[in-house]
Amino acid sequence: MADVPKTMPGVLIEENGGVEVLKWKTDLPVPELKEGEVLVKNELIGVNYIDTYFRTGLYKAPLPLVTGKEAAGTVAALGPALSGSDLKVGDRVGYLHDHAYAAYTAVPAAKVLRLPEGITTAQAAASLLQGLTALTFVREAAGLHAGGGAGATLGVGQGPWTLVHAAAGGVGLQLVQMLAASGARVIGTAGSADKCELARRHGAQWVVNSREDGLAAKVLEITGGHGADVVFDGVGKATFEADLQMIARKGTLISFGNASGPVPPVDILRLGPKNIKLMRPVLFNYLVTRDEIEKYSKELFDLIMTGKVEVRVHDTYPLKEVARAHSDLEGRKTTGKLLLKL
Ligand code: NDP
Repeated sequence: MADVPKTMPGVLIEENGGVEVLKWKTDLPVPELKEGEVLVKNELIGVNYIDTYFRTGLYKAPLPLVTGKEAAGTVAALGPALSGSDLKVGDRVGYLHDHAYAAYTAVPAAKVLRLPEGITTAQAAASLLQGLTALTFVREAAGLHAGGGAGATLGVGQGPWTLVHAAAGGVGLQLVQMLAASGARVIGTAGSADKCELARRHGAQWVVNSREDGLAAKVLEITGGHGADVVFDGVGKATFEADLQMIARKGTLISFGNASGPVPPVDILRLGPKNIKLMRPVLFNYLVTRDEIEKYSKELFDLIMTGKVEVRVHDTYPLKEVARAHSDLEGRKTTGKLLLKL
């Protein structure tokens, strides 16, 4: 750790609350490496909606907390007993792990990905969490694969009816592109005409402005009364009731977020009239083993390198101005990915 300083800049949360609790510090201790860990010098840090949940306390973590779940940069030091890894100091890497809102983060080597030459550091920081969420949810939760679902050979846009809420957002834009590439018929919802247009350009063949009334009726009209076979809902509380109305018989409702607040407890009997499959998946529980992490990150990077998936960066904020990034994200002012730079 010869060139690594003892202290570093970063953002600390000492109490839960609004964006004002995100405190810029210049003298946080650089983490001491434990067995099997790697110290990553973060160049670009991804902002994700989950960061706001840890800030507000919707999701619990011990305080004080350096939050942040992903970043990309370079290996700064290797910890003791680092066996089974060929990582070297200076390697360009990305990772999904806690405590990313700082100059350095200690990451278990098993979670560190060396970046292929065709992937920029910005593409990695902007795609890992949201892209892998979209990819694992399309493949594992919805069971849709490239060229069609469940082994079927489908033409583009001839597959199942899928609906993506917040389709111009970080996860949403990745979902619409991956679903379109899998041959699904994709309906996107978004909160403005510009956002709808963005979702359309990325693969949503139909778009509905979610700020207007009658969302479920519009989706039923688009699908000729059939409804959506798969609904991807990261908005949560505000859209759950509409989901139950517009989902098709035997449809799969993948509820995976709380942008508008958490979905209240559900009476399981409400699933019966349409035999709905209701899921609440979490990315990190699809990426548990090293094989899973490597398999899906390779597929994601291949999709990006072959141009099938574009990673769109809304803005890159100085880490010091992270409060502005959180305000923009929670204020529905953003599309695609928000990055933080040191
Ligand atoms: P987004 O970029 O999608 O931002 C959230 C979007 O939600 C907004 O841009 C807005 O789009 C929409 N929205 C609708 N209603 C509200 C509201 N009341 N307040 C705020 N936003 C609203 O964020 P992310 O891509 O980072 O995350 C999307 C969702 O996915 C989040 O709920 C997140 O927690 C979840 N997620 C879950 C994971 C899991 O493992 N379960 C993993 C990753 C993300 P519009 O204006 O177009 O409606």
